[in-house]
Formats: sequence, structure tokens, C-alpha cells
Amino acid sequence: MLELLQSDEVCIRLNVRCSNDIAQVKGQGEDITAIYLHENFFLMKPGDETKQYGVIVHEMTHFRLTGDTTDQQYGKSAARALAKKDPSIARQTASNYHYYAQSIYGD
Ligand SMILES: [Zn+2]
Repeated sequence: MLELLQSDEVCIRLNVRCSNDIAQVKGQGEDITAIYLHENFFLMKPGDETKQYGVIVHEMTHFRLTGDTTDQQYGKSAARALAKKDPSIARQTASNYHYYAQSIYGD
């Protein structure tokens, strides 16, 4: 994933005019190579349950090369519940990678 972030194939763009989302990817399949960060991304605080690096991990897993995940649910408790209920669906869900990454760093 780090190699992909450092390549010229992926870019992070600002889209401050957008909705109340934090971030999103645009495109489909192999065409997804851009992460759009919205204003709310920059308003996140270190004490928030969702961390900025977790959001980047989440969005990166939507890329075909790094997971081709979907959004079955959002949130830490929902990710944990899904992992217990249906691990195969959890492995295809961006939020599960997001909160797994945060758990590694103790967040
Ligand atoms: Zn997502």
C-alpha cells in the first residue's frame, strides 16, 4: 500500500465543497486512483474515534489493487460486530481494515 501511495498512480485531492463526508474515492474498478478529502477530514481531532490515517487506509482499500473493498457499514463498533458475525464480509469491508489499522496503533 505504501508503494502505491508513493507512486504517480495515486493522488489525493481536496474537495472542500463536498457533502458532510470525510473522504471518498471516485471511479470504478481499476480507474479508482484518487482519494478526495473533504473539509471534515481537516476538522478531525486526535481524540476522535476515527483517525485521519484510518480514513486514508479505508479509502486505499477501495482501490482494486489493494482490496477492492466496499462499504458494508461504517464505524468502529459496527466493524467489530461484522467481524464477529460474518468474517468473510468483514474482509471485503473498508471500515474493518480502517479500524484494524487503528487498533494496531492503539487507537
Ligand atoms: Zn468507503
